[in-house]
Amino acid sequence: MAVKYVAEPFRIKMVEPIKMLTREERIQKIKEADYNLFNLKGSDVYIDLLTDSGTNAMSHHQWAGVMTGDESYAGGSSYYKLLDAATDIFNYGYIQPVHQGRAAEKVLFPLLLTKGKFAISNMFFDTTRAHVILAGARPIDCVVKEAKDPSYRCKFKGNMDIEKMEKIILEKGPENIGLIVMTITNNSAGGQPVSMKNMRETADICKKYNITLDIDAARYAENAYFIKRDEEGYQNTPIKEIIKEMFSYGDMFTMSAKKDTIVNMGGLLGVKDKNDPIILNIKANCISMEGFFTYGGLSGRDLESLAIGLYEGIDENYLKYRSGQMEYLASKLDDEKIAYQAPIGGHGLFVDAKNMFSQIPYNEYPGQVLAVELYIEAGIRTCDIGSYMLGNDPDTNEQLEADFEFTRLAIPRRVYTQSHFDIMAEAIVAISERAHEIKRGYKITWEPPILRHFQASLAPIESNS
Ligand SMILES: *Cc1c(COP(=O)(O)O)cnc(C)c1O
Repeated sequence: MAVKYVAEPFRIKMVEPIKMLTREERIQKIKEADYNLFNLKGSDVYIDLLTDSGTNAMSHHQWAGVMTGDESYAGGSSYYKLLDAATDIFNYGYIQPVHQGRAAEKVLFPLLLTKGKFAISNMFFDTTRAHVILAGARPIDCVVKEAKDPSYRCKFKGNMDIEKMEKIILEKGPENIGLIVMTITNNSAGGQPVSMKNMRETADICKKYNITLDIDAARYAENAYFIKRDEEGYQNTPIKEIIKEMFSYGDMFTMSAKKDTIVNMGGLLGVKDKNDPIILNIKANCISMEGFFTYGGLSGRDLESLAIGLYEGIDENYLKYRSGQMEYLASKLDDEKIAYQAPIGGHGLFVDAKNMFSQIPYNEYPGQVLAVELYIEAGIRTCDIGSYMLGNDPDTNEQLEADFEFTRLAIPRRVYTQSHFDIMAEAIVAISERAHEIKRGYKITWEPPILRHFQASLAPIESNS
């Protein structure tokens, strides 16, 4: 039985019209886009679930902040307002605004990683993985094995496999591990949370071997909500205190503010120790690549709405509503016995396309097959989180096989209503009923060397070939 939808803790005072093309038009549009959903025009999409990044609806307070943002080149008041908010929430000694999450990675990672080094994470997000490789190092994923079985329901499926992590550290030599990255929530594993206990244990190992621990904090507020709901001892702890404790275990954080901070553009980089000599190098990298360190590639108005969004994103009523949307959608799939990464994570539904299209092998990209079908079925734009996104081995250039073949419905914050969720569920059910009729997947006809899924061209493989 579908769970009850948690009503919006806000009302709407501005709307943006959207339209649905006909099925024939959608078939034509996706063909013209070379079957890559990133190539579609936004105006040809009805419900856009490509990402929850930067697609959030700002509040009237944030829009008011846009008008009062201070556009001073150096030392603007919006910068100080952002510092106050971020320091209050994370309690770190140094806060650097940047234009988005990957900019924080670009500024920080080359200071810690070089050729011959390794970086270990519970799971790297795609741009994070790319910045490890661009710095010359090699990324190693180390998520708990439960995460790899989408139908296996347990709490904190995003956790680091601590034993495996220590084994890798000893194998490679602690001096060769440049960085450990804890991604909260674990985006690539389906927005699955990391427990406080797991964070604490990871930090203990980092201290033991003197390795820097970076929190990839894009969805830290959703992660804190899961800890409050599901981890023993935290039911009565305010979200803000959970966040403070979580960050107390890290040395640094890199954050895309386009997610839980509910803005359209922005990022942060934090260093816990205000006397850490790395801060001077962070400022230098930032000045040459992002802009002066008091604006970091953002307008004053962006800094202002980011400062406000930091607080809105950790509001408990908001987090309850947000998580309620996910639960509502997931329960509709449960009713139809459709597999997804379960239990549902914090920012979207990761449908198990390997299960739905068991006849299609990883190198014909089942996650992409479902993504294309969802667009044709209902004008819904999603993306593959599987072998298509993972790409080729940087050393051998062979197609890697991902642990999962997911199609991700990423849910923008405060944007879609209950009826939109019903349309999503109905489309998935309709496709699953005809899934066996689709015999073959896609081949790549052109791809760039890195982060290919954003730009590649694909073509359907004919079923008789
Ligand atoms: C989005 C994201 C990033 C990169 O941030 P951008 O703002 O898109 O550059 C890094 N890590 C995780 C876990 C993310 O979700």
